[in-house]
Amino acid sequence: MFGRQPPRKSDNTKYYDILGVPKGASQDDLKKAYRKAAIKNHPDKGGDPEKFKELAQAYEILSDPEKREIYDQYGEDALKEGVGSGGHDPFDIFQSFFGGSPFGGGGSSRGRRQRRGEDVVHPLKVSLEDLYNGTSKKLSLSRNVLCPKCKGKGSKSGASMKCAGCQGSGMKVTIRQLGPMIQQMQHPCNECKGTGETINDRDRCPQCKAEKVVPDKKVLEVVVEKGMQNGQKITFPGEADEAPETVTGDIVFVLQQKEHQKFKRKGDDLFVEHTLSLTEALCGFQFILNHLDGRQMLIKSQPGEVVKPDQFKAINDEGMPQYQRPFMKGKLYIHFSVEFPESFSPEQCKALGAVLAPRPSVQLTDMELDECEETTLHDVNIEEEMRRKQTQQAQEAYDEDEDMHGGAQRVQCAQQ
Ligand SMILES: [Zn+2]
Ligand SMILES: [Zn+2]
Repeated sequence: MFGRQPPRKSDNTKYYDILGVPKGASQDDLKKAYRKAAIKNHPDKGGDPEKFKELAQAYEILSDPEKREIYDQYGEDALKEGVGSGGHDPFDIFQSFFGGSPFGGGGSSRGRRQRRGEDVVHPLKVSLEDLYNGTSKKLSLSRNVLCPKCKGKGSKSGASMKCAGCQGSGMKVTIRQLGPMIQQMQHPCNECKGTGETINDRDRCPQCKAEKVVPDKKVLEVVVEKGMQNGQKITFPGEADEAPETVTGDIVFVLQQKEHQKFKRKGDDLFVEHTLSLTEALCGFQFILNHLDGRQMLIKSQPGEVVKPDQFKAINDEGMPQYQRPFMKGKLYIHFSVEFPESFSPEQCKALGAVLAPRPSVQLTDMELDECEETTLHDVNIEEEMRRKQTQQAQEAYDEDEDMHGGAQRVQCAQQ
């Protein structure tokens, strides 16, 4: 009914500036620019880590045609708000670009790609008031952290032994003979749980019992900003479960707006339903509307104004605040219904007729009335009636279909 406002325009040249290419640059140009700049700014070669990160981010977005289109149209913010564009490790981007070290030879410990831990996603229920006013919620979460006693080694001495069960590979191969065929099957080693190492019983870390991680409680303060949307993500990078030799994943909260009794939200706009009596609709009304921040707003009609059933009215700047521009607000729409009285007495009708236009039926002459047939009007629930008719029609169509088939068969039989 009311189109959503398009996302706000924000800066959409920054990434091009970072890579030093024009806006229309081809994928080839982007690649060349990133290669040159990333090598020059690589922290292993004494470059600035911030700059290196920026380059990776810019390249990641612009090299993906879908993300680039969003960026070109709506800028960086649109990508932040969208689904999972969240910063990848710049070293991963660098490495996947070059497919190995561009400096030749090993040496850089960063060259080894680390396993990335899983992100942990939590839904976070918020009220419309929370999204209007902004709020912060403290949440206590339990997660695994590297054992502080053994620093995630699992042993007192810090030593571990190659697992005897799998010779340190973490995998075991079982060979089965099925008649003339030999089948080889690989599965994770059960002795070391696939880690490839075991810890001497006497050397086990007493705190984590050689598990390398211990449970920990952490309180996170989730800041819900004004104007955030249902489904929007709030990410705490690297706060998920820790594990040895693993880049810790993120904790991600996904906002879930609880239904509001009074207000409905569409983008930055708010909608409210209000029912007027017929007298209010014809002769004026005023009422108090409690807003989401507790303000009491007086809503009233203009003198002499008539409100028709299903009419909308809007109050500017009383909708939802825009995300990251909370001083900009959408509209508040009020949708009016009018409650009509069930009946009037003849006296009331006479009084109304004196005020409103006289009824045309009164002007019919006896002659005209004599020529007509009397009718009776029944109350109907039109939706229900239409539904019943549709079902009936479908049933008839089905029956007809059946008849046709039956008929065709009969004809066939007769021909045989
Ligand atoms: Zn093993
Ligand atoms: Zn330990």
